[in-house]
Amino acid sequence: MSSTLRLKKACEYCKQTFIAQKTATRFCSHRCNSRAYKQNIREQKKSTVQQDLIQHTAKSSPKLSSVQSKQFLDIKETCILLKCSESTLRKLISKGNIRTALVGRKHIIRRTDIELLFDKAN
Ligand SMILES: [Zn+2]
Repeated sequence: MSSTLRLKKACEYCKQTFIAQKTATRFCSHRCNSRAYKQNIREQKKSTVQQDLIQHTAKSSPKLSSVQSKQFLDIKETCILLKCSESTLRKLISKGNIRTALVGRKHIIRRTDIELLFDKAN
C-alpha cells in the first residue's frame, strides 16, 4: 500500500521546502539525509571526546593528600599513592605481590599491605 500523503516540510539539512510522503521524513533527499547523518555522528564524537576529557580530569582529581589518610584504598587511589599506572598495579596484584580484598567488584587494598610490599623488598 503506497501512501498518498503529501506533506510540505522543510529539510532539516538544507532548509528547503519539499513534499514529504511520510510524517517521519526529515530531509528532502538521500543526500541531505546522509550528510545530516554524518554531521550528527561528527558532533556526537566531538561531544563524547569532550565528555571524556571532563571525566578524565574529574577522575584524576583525588589528590595525594586525601589518599594518604585512608586505611583502605581502591586501585586508583593506590596508584596515586604509589605514583604508578593502573596496569603496573594490576600486575603486582595478579602476581600476588599485593593482597587485595574484593568488595563487590572492586579491589580494595589495605594500607598496611602496601607497606608490606616494602618489607618484602628489603
Ligand atoms: Zn535538503
